[in-house]
Amino acid sequence: MVEGLPVRVVRGAHPSNPYAPPTGYQYAGLFLVTDWDTVTGQDGHKVVRFKLERVPEQAKLWTTEDPVPDPAFATSVVSRRIRDTALSRSIKLLYDHHCQICQTAIPGTGNRYYSEGAHVKPLGRPHLGADAMNNLLCLCPNHHTQLDIGGMVILDDFTVARPTSDQVIAELSFRKDHVLDVANVRYHRMQWTAA
Ligand SMILES: [Zn+2]
Repeated sequence: MVEGLPVRVVRGAHPSNPYAPPTGYQYAGLFLVTDWDTVTGQDGHKVVRFKLERVPEQAKLWTTEDPVPDPAFATSVVSRRIRDTALSRSIKLLYDHHCQICQTAIPGTGNRYYSEGAHVKPLGRPHLGADAMNNLLCLCPNHHTQLDIGGMVILDDFTVARPTSDQVIAELSFRKDHVLDVANVRYHRMQWTAA
């Protein structure tokens, strides 16, 4: 939802759901995640429920009746997909897995470390940010998440601030000749500070 990426929906057979196939499973196409809430599931656990809206201009769905739109609710365990592009691997190497905000490099086994390549202007629709070094940061998972959910914005001088107060909370550190395109930084900021 944060990155605007569509998800593929596969429906299983269900006797009373007009969108469900009579037997087996059926591919239902690409959907955008447009909303979410939490509800209490049958076993008493809290589950996250996502609202999915079918991306237009796809092949018509098979149904037992002629349905109107195609609302779908899905419950799921949340997993955030990290796009590991070739460039995100390069940025992690350039910073030796050190977060550009907090300098943390998370140790794994042996000499391995973990970090994430974070796109400032998101790659997915509708943003269509570039997979380019001037749109990438090497971040720890916490700061990557904080960036993606709008808990921080980057100012034109590459300091990092809370979106609501402009209170500077950190300064991005850069290595070698790595630079961010200010246009990407402004795009991200507009998403989270526009009234
Ligand atoms: Zn960090």
